[in-house]
Amino acid sequence: MPTITLHTKTFVPYIDEGKIQARIAELGKEINAEYADKNPLFVGVLNGAFRFASDMMRQIDIDCEINFVKLTSYRGTETTGKISSHIGLNSDIEGRHLVLIEDIVDTGNTIEFLLENLYKEKPASIKVASLLYKPEAYHGDVKIDFTGFEIPNLFVVGYGLDFDGLGRNLNGIYQIELPQTVKYD
Ligand code: 5GP
Repeated sequence: MPTITLHTKTFVPYIDEGKIQARIAELGKEINAEYADKNPLFVGVLNGAFRFASDMMRQIDIDCEINFVKLTSYRGTETTGKISSHIGLNSDIEGRHLVLIEDIVDTGNTIEFLLENLYKEKPASIKVASLLYKPEAYHGDVKIDFTGFEIPNLFVVGYGLDFDGLGRNLNGIYQIELPQTVKYD
């Protein structure tokens, strides 16, 4: 994987396509075993999780359904966007076993917001699958049930994740260039 430039920033190779796909195959096995006969409803969180959700589905061989949600946010005077609602989930989730599919859990705001809202609709259970998880950035108590890779608190792009719109199409994951960045082993 070569170093890349998106807008004005340089990103170095971090997790290659082979490692990503191998890890998703492992997670898929765990989910197949745990949800056999439960007809889980996967809920992909757009935009970032579209590739993870798609590749995850290739590994799932039990009856299941998939749907997607998109979060809308508004920006006030704060620098960070505040999530105001989610749109797109048109399935009735009462009594269903949900598996949320996220690209990354960073501050955890997104996943906490979604869980709080989805639990109101009385699903039988909700578990979270996130390709990436930044434990140093998340201080809440949501459990990430199926984690692809734990990563340090550094900005990454690729495989669905963008930097100002660019990079979602990359097949591997890249980390913003810092003097000490090292490849994921
Ligand atoms: P949260 O902070 O709510 O856990 O994450 C919110 C969203 O911010 C993620 O779904 C993802 O789209 C974006 N995000 C968080 N960390 C990164 C990162 O390192 N790189 C990119 N490209 N997006 C990120």
